[in-house]
Amino acid sequence: MKIKDRRVMDVRELWEAAPSRYPELTGKVAVVTGSSRGIGQGIAVRLAKEGMKVVINSRSEDAVEQTVEDLRACGAEVLGVPADLETTEGVDTLFDLTKATFGGVDLLVNNAADVKRYHFFEVDDAILNHFLQANIGGPYRCSMRAAVLMRDAGTGGNIVNISSIGGLQAHWVGLPYDVTKGAMNMMTMAMALELAEHGIRVNALAPGAIRTYEVPPEYRADWEEFQARIPIGRVGHPMEIGAVIAFLASNDASYITGTILPVDGGVMAQIYPKQSPI
Ligand code: NAD
Repeated sequence: MKIKDRRVMDVRELWEAAPSRYPELTGKVAVVTGSSRGIGQGIAVRLAKEGMKVVINSRSEDAVEQTVEDLRACGAEVLGVPADLETTEGVDTLFDLTKATFGGVDLLVNNAADVKRYHFFEVDDAILNHFLQANIGGPYRCSMRAAVLMRDAGTGGNIVNISSIGGLQAHWVGLPYDVTKGAMNMMTMAMALELAEHGIRVNALAPGAIRTYEVPPEYRADWEEFQARIPIGRVGHPMEIGAVIAFLASNDASYITGTILPVDGGVMAQIYPKQSPI
């Protein structure tokens, strides 16, 4: 089965189901990294439905083009920028084109990441360096470029980092991914302090398990068992992440900065799952 056939998301369907709650976001500019599929795509759809101009990015030109086309067909104002954010050139391309097209940026969502996880002894230098660049270097550089634009415009803005509950507690087999998400949480707090005086709020959202692909039939039983261990009884949907991003970017969140917000169906609140003997 091709991964494409297993997509749970159809942009048109998401668009139609998405609410639009924050008029203050209309006309503002959002850059969502890694937004041609998965959680990032869900975030992009919700922000576009709020009336934001949205920049779609990932490394794949075709995937970016497809999401741009789908969103434009819904009536959204979007720009596609294929760029590898593991490199400084990729980050520069993203922000140079955003500035040239939309004049600036009001919201940056650092969503792109390598989500693979390894055993401790599997991690060599190449893997370690790749993860540090992709999951920390990229978001760090994107935040710098975005914050400079926000500061110079004098309008303030928002940065939301898509972290993980793996940055708060460790996955079994979570290296070096969890390490990068832990660092991202601290990056969120440290940047929030320094950027507050410029009216820039910086927050992190730590998703639990979010389903972005159809589960193949052979894994369905395991999947059901896994979902039963989540207090809310199911995995989350990308639009449930998009909803929180819209709130964090809105005026309703005007006193929230430097926070790490789990959006995880209650996983972080439990010691052992309900089915445990103790
Ligand atoms: P995904 O792999 O489906 O999507 C990630 C996107 O980022 C892809 O479009 C990919 O091409 C892009 N990307 C990766 N590296 C890039 C780079 N160097 N430059 C540009 N684009 C790049 O992942 P997802 O499951 O949608 O996860 C999105 C975010 O949510 C990640 O930060 C991940 O750590 C976080 N997260 C996901 C889950 C989950 O259950 N899905 C749980 C916790 C946290």
